[in-house]
Amino acid sequence: MTNQAVLKELEGSTFQLTEEQRDIKQVVREFAETVIAPRSAEVDETAKFPWDVYKEMAESGLISLPYPEQYGGGGADPVMECILVEELSRVDLSVALACGVNTLGSQPIMLGGTEEQKRKYIPQITSGEKLCAFGLTEAGAGSDFMGIKTRAVKKGDKYIINGTKLFISHANLSEIVTVFAKTSPEPGLKSLSCFIVDKSSPGFKVGKTEHKLGIRGSETAELIFEDMEIPAENLIGNEGAGWKLAMSTLDHSRPGVGAQGVGVAQGALDFAFKYAQEREQFGQPIGNFEAVQNMLVKMAMDVEAARLLVYKAAVSVCNDNREKAMYASLSKCYGGDVAMRVTTDAVQVLGGYGFTKEFPVERMMRDAKITQIYEGTNQVQRMVISRHLLKGYK
Ligand SMILES: Cc1cc2nc3c(=O)[nH]c(=O)nc-3n(C[C@H](O)[C@H](O)[C@H](O)COP(=O)(O)OP(=O)(O)OC[C@H]3O[C@@H](n4cnc5c(N)ncnc54)[C@H](O)[C@@H]3O)c2cc1C
Repeated sequence: MTNQAVLKELEGSTFQLTEEQRDIKQVVREFAETVIAPRSAEVDETAKFPWDVYKEMAESGLISLPYPEQYGGGGADPVMECILVEELSRVDLSVALACGVNTLGSQPIMLGGTEEQKRKYIPQITSGEKLCAFGLTEAGAGSDFMGIKTRAVKKGDKYIINGTKLFISHANLSEIVTVFAKTSPEPGLKSLSCFIVDKSSPGFKVGKTEHKLGIRGSETAELIFEDMEIPAENLIGNEGAGWKLAMSTLDHSRPGVGAQGVGVAQGALDFAFKYAQEREQFGQPIGNFEAVQNMLVKMAMDVEAARLLVYKAAVSVCNDNREKAMYASLSKCYGGDVAMRVTTDAVQVLGGYGFTKEFPVERMMRDAKITQIYEGTNQVQRMVISRHLLKGYK
């Protein structure tokens, strides 16, 4: 085979983006740099969700992009969805969550909802009219979410829900929340169910809002349900389907967290790289020093490897491959660890300036930390991965 033929063959199975994926990347990058970047420092400082930016994102089709067209979505393929998250996170991870939290919150509806539930709720999200949150975690149920105490009891054509959810992204901003509650007092996987909850339900209350280290523009709050009444038809799937729904929702969302990690790491690397070319010490750019070059090279290798793993996981989850949960965890865990390493090294490359608010890399380092914690900590991801490896998955 000639070199040309080998190259052509390789092109057929390339790791290159399609034309449509490249177009999306460019559109989102331009949007993020012109609309989001000028607001990021203020959003971080005030810790307020930027509603005006959100509206512009909705008008530009970025909020609806990940959803199927029949529900008002842009019909993005799984890699495109990662590119969207990655490019937004490259500039501001907290604003990227304007998309990410909606898709996480609405995933149980997309995966287990009836056609009627999808037609009722998803267009309200794709239009930008309403935000959607995901209510799983409680004070005593974090990594071990089977410790959930929130209880849903059926009374006629209603469920009465009592309990408190903790650390819920956009809980105070969302009008739709998917809530996990126990429909049986018995322990075990079959005791958990998932419901669509409307903010207007009697007994729905928002508790305290958290003061956070990072992703400060993505508000996080408590939800309190006091004899909250919801229609019985808001149950997603059957009673007892909650555990499976939670697990498959997380399989779908974890490559997205990996993409957040890749994005924030790429943003920090881009800043560090530019700075290393401009900043002079000992009469030359610091980028001429091998120690600095080594840091930049390691950062670039990490980002590139994490990106490929994220895309592979996204496709694997979408194709419902047997090993999808393992790839979802691999990509989330690696993407999060890379985000933390690369943003920390970016601060190092910028020296003292990196430690100040004059440059965004300190914010990126603070924002990156959450990717190792939410949607299952990276210790939990390692548990999932090792379980799959022990089953013989490759
Ligand atoms: C900003 C933010 C936003 C969030 N958004 C949402 C949201 O929208 N919806 C939602 O439902 N939840 C949300 N969460 C909750 C998040 O998913 C949990 O915080 C996370 O799953 C960890 O749970 P925990 O905080 O209770 O920690 P814990 O479970 O108490 O863990 C504490 C430590 O122990 C380790 N650990 C626990 N069990 C094991 C084990 N078996 N083996 C090894 N190590 C272990 C953990 O890795 C961690 O290091 C959010 C959290 C934050 C901080």
